[in-house]
Amino acid sequence: MNATLTAAALTETERARILAKAALFSPPTPLTADGRRDLVGMSRDELAAELAAIGEQPFRVKQLWHWIYHQGVTDFARMSSIARPLQQKLADKFVIGRPEAATVQTSSDQTRKWLFRFRDGQQAETVYIPDPEQDRGALCISSQIGCTLSCTFCHTGTQTLVRNLGPAEIVGQFMAARDTYGEWPSPKGETPRLLSTIVLMGMGEPLYNYENVAQAMKIVMDNEGIALSRRRITLSTSGVVPMMDRAGADLGVNLAVSLHAVRDDLRDELVPLNRKYPIADLLAACRRYPGASNARRITFEYVMLKNINDTEADARELVRLITGIPAKVNLIPFNPWPGSTYETSSGNALHRFAKIVMDAGYASPIRTPRGRDILAACGQLKTDSERRKKAGALPLDPVARSTHSRDGDKSPNPMT
Ligand code: SAH
Ligand code: SF4
Repeated sequence: MNATLTAAALTETERARILAKAALFSPPTPLTADGRRDLVGMSRDELAAELAAIGEQPFRVKQLWHWIYHQGVTDFARMSSIARPLQQKLADKFVIGRPEAATVQTSSDQTRKWLFRFRDGQQAETVYIPDPEQDRGALCISSQIGCTLSCTFCHTGTQTLVRNLGPAEIVGQFMAARDTYGEWPSPKGETPRLLSTIVLMGMGEPLYNYENVAQAMKIVMDNEGIALSRRRITLSTSGVVPMMDRAGADLGVNLAVSLHAVRDDLRDELVPLNRKYPIADLLAACRRYPGASNARRITFEYVMLKNINDTEADARELVRLITGIPAKVNLIPFNPWPGSTYETSSGNALHRFAKIVMDAGYASPIRTPRGRDILAACGQLKTDSERRKKAGALPLDPVARSTHSRDGDKSPNPMT
C-alpha cells in the first residue's frame, strides 16, 4: 500500500471508531408514555416503513411530510387532506412531538434562550440570536447533552457527556422555536423569517454525534418541508478531522472550526482534542472541505483570552496558518461563567488582533456578546443534567479536568 492509501484507510478506521462510540450514547427511541411513536425526526424511508406497518401506502409520506414540516401542525385532526378515519388511526399510533420548554428567558437585547426537556427528563439549551441589522436571526442548536471534550474555557465542557440527542430532538429544537415565533408554514424561497439560519454551536460536539445530526439536517434541508438551504446552516466543530470530510461530502453545510490557538502546545491545553488532531491536520481538512470558496468561506472561531492567545504575534501566525483557505475569522470575546479562570481580552487587544487579520484580507468581525444577562451566548451552555448511572458504569466524574486522556476526551469515558 502506498502512503496515501494508508492514510485513507486509517481515516476510515478512525471514522468507524468514532461512529461506534457515538452509538454507545444513543438517545432513547422517541416514544410517549402510552407507547406512541414520534414521527418527527424520521427520514422519509423510516416514515414509509412505519406507515407500511399499519397498512398505509407510500404516497402518504409526502402528505405527512407536508403537514409536519411545511405546515408545522402537531395535531392529526388539522391534516385536512387526510380523511378522518386515517387521522384517527394515525393519532392512535403516533404523535408529532415537540420538546417541552422547561424555561424560556429573553434577554434585554432580545436574545432568547430555551431550556428544552426531552422525554427522558434530560435537558439541553437552544438560543435565538437576532441580527440587530436585519429582521432575522440565527438559532443556535445543541447536538449533545454535555460534551466529551473539555475545552478549558467552555462551560459545556465542565459537564460530562450524558447522551447524544436524536434527530427528533435536534429538529425539535428548531420546530419548537418556530412555534414560539408563529413562523409556520415554512416559507418558500427567501421570504424573511426570524428563524432563517441554524448554527450547530450549542451544547456538544456535532461531529461526535454525526449520524443523528446528519439525519436532522437532511430533514431541515428537505425542499418539501422546512427547506432551509445548506448555505443557511453552519456546523461548528472543535476539530474532529476524520468526520469533517464526511460532513462536507454528505451535507455540504457551512463549516466553522473552533481554532482558538495557533500553536499546538497552547491548543493542546485549550482544546484538548488537539492532542489527537493537531493544527496541521485540522487545517489540511479545512483545505479539503468541499465547496469552500470565497462565496462560502470557512469560519475560524477564535475566543479571545486575555494574555493567553491574544498577542499581535498570535494574529500574524493565524494569518500565516490560514493562508490560501477561503476564510473569515470570528473573534469571540471570552464570555466568563461562574468558576471560569480566564479573562476577556481588552478592547485594545481585540482591535489590534482584528486589524492584523483584516489587513491580511480576511473578514475578522468581533462578535458582540449577546444575551449576556441570561448567560446565553453559544458555547456558554450548561444544564444541570446528570449522567445516567448504569449498573457497572464507570464512576460519575463531572469535571475531571485533571484526568484528560490523550485525545482530550474526559476520562473515564467510553468515548476515549
Ligand atoms: N463543540 C463545538 C460547537 C459548540 S461550541 C465546537 O467546539 O466548535 C460553539 C463555540 O462557542 C465554539 O467556538 C466554542 O469554542 C465557543 N465558546 C465556548 N465557550 C465559550 C466562552 N466561554 N466564551 C466564548 N466562546 C465560547
Ligand atoms: Fe465541547 Fe465545543 Fe465546549 Fe469544546 S467548546 S467542550 S467541543 S462544546
